[in-house]
Amino acid sequence: MTRADPVGVIAGLFASDGLQDYLGEAVTQQAHLLQSGMLAERAGTPDALVAAALLHDVGHFTGVISGQGLMRGTDNRHGEVGARWLGQWFGPEVTEPVRLHVAAKRYLVAVEAGYAAALSPASVYTLSVQGGPMSRAEVAEFEVTPYAGDAVRVRRFDDAAKDPVATTPGFDHFRPCLGRLLRE
Ligand code: FE
Repeated sequence: MTRADPVGVIAGLFASDGLQDYLGEAVTQQAHLLQSGMLAERAGTPDALVAAALLHDVGHFTGVISGQGLMRGTDNRHGEVGARWLGQWFGPEVTEPVRLHVAAKRYLVAVEAGYAAALSPASVYTLSVQGGPMSRAEVAEFEVTPYAGDAVRVRRFDDAAKDPVATTPGFDHFRPCLGRLLRE
């Protein structure tokens, strides 16, 4: 498992940091991400979106401020951190939805009636740390940001991927998908 084997590096994170609880939810980080990737795959989305859904929270693993720090009230900017880390190996079609998935939550809270009410308590809490609902100006800016639509799709898989009894494939199931997306 070396830098030359990025999928192996990511698999290692899933098997180590990934076993921690997912921030205030009834699933581990690993289970959350596998569920999210599976939901994207079942929805028939392209490889890049399956990968983004699978990897959207790696910034909680790799960031200087951990996910636990976020839950104590410090924004760990895990979308940015994760996207930068993934950018070593993947293009913007993967990294941008990851980078924007927190913004997508702030966007959906602002524009979609009923969205906030359906969020989990932990997600409502982190919303406050992450800046709360977008202003109208922020909404307008987000809507013209490249990959914003993909980020919203990832966000919906993220929100739905908190089922404590869901069964998912293991990480290995996603290796071919990730392999197809690696940059030369
Ligand atoms: Fe998530």
